[in-house]
Amino acid sequence: MEEQLKQIAQWIITSKRVVVFSGAGLSTESGIPDFRSPGGVWDKYNPEDFYFQNFIASEASREKYWQMATEMWEPIKAAQPNQAHLTISELEKLGKLDCVITQNIDGLHLKAGNSEEKILQLHGTAIFVSCLSCKKRYDRDEIQERIKKGQMAPRCEVCGGLLKPATISFGQTMPEKETQAAYHRSSTCDLFIVIGSSLVVQPAASMPLVAKRNGAKLVIINRDPTPYDDTADLVIHAQAGPTMASLLEYVKKGIGIDHEPTI
Ligand code: NAD
Repeated sequence: MEEQLKQIAQWIITSKRVVVFSGAGLSTESGIPDFRSPGGVWDKYNPEDFYFQNFIASEASREKYWQMATEMWEPIKAAQPNQAHLTISELEKLGKLDCVITQNIDGLHLKAGNSEEKILQLHGTAIFVSCLSCKKRYDRDEIQERIKKGQMAPRCEVCGGLLKPATISFGQTMPEKETQAAYHRSSTCDLFIVIGSSLVVQPAASMPLVAKRNGAKLVIINRDPTPYDDTADLVIHAQAGPTMASLLEYVKKGIGIDHEPTI
């Protein structure tokens, strides 16, 4: 792994536009379960119950959705950035980050210190709730309080519309601005680093291929194999946190601002 990390560090140093693409695996070390690992969210719930069309169509689906969302909110609210998030934030400080395209909804890139304009949240954010009709935004805690008091599928106090965390569910339209920006950054970067994603959720998972087809080097750091491992220039199957921390040391050493890495 040492040689691979040195190689990635070298690519980071020599690249002009480095894009990091993060998934739920980046945040498991912060205590937020991913969807597809054993013990993940889809071991407990059936994804089909959470299609956007069902949320729109039935009060029972909305109640079930909010039950799952409430269960996921506590670990998300309590979570702190881990070494991997902090490394990505360091890359920005070193001037080595074009942007981070994230599928995560947990707000941990922001908590880690990345600036807002560097983060493209493809699947929205769990930190807010929004009205699907008038788009009014609510703080998540305010709505969770209402749920605690017995509102099982809360509604907008202004227009009576359906309230939903500001995340993108299966079947829901992707945010236009972020999606366009993410495709643009993917197609113009020269290094694309995937961290902690199974690369099966579309259209997000097509972005590594867009980068690769446009001439970028593709690196995948993920605990388990992904469908794009064969396409990548370099793959590391390991935990994101310690791997990224070691990588950062090599980057700093390479640009002459730190000491010998320890892995
Ligand atoms: P996923 O659950 O499909 O895959 C996660 C991947 O991360 C797996 O392949 C697993 O091997 C890997 N992984 C788990 N822990 C790891 C670690 N410590 N180090 C390295 N790799 C690790 O997640 P996905 O690809 O992001 O797609 C699922 C969808 O889940 C996304 O759309 C996202 O919105 C949503 N999601 C987000 C969060 C979050 O915000 N933290 C949590 C759960 C789900």
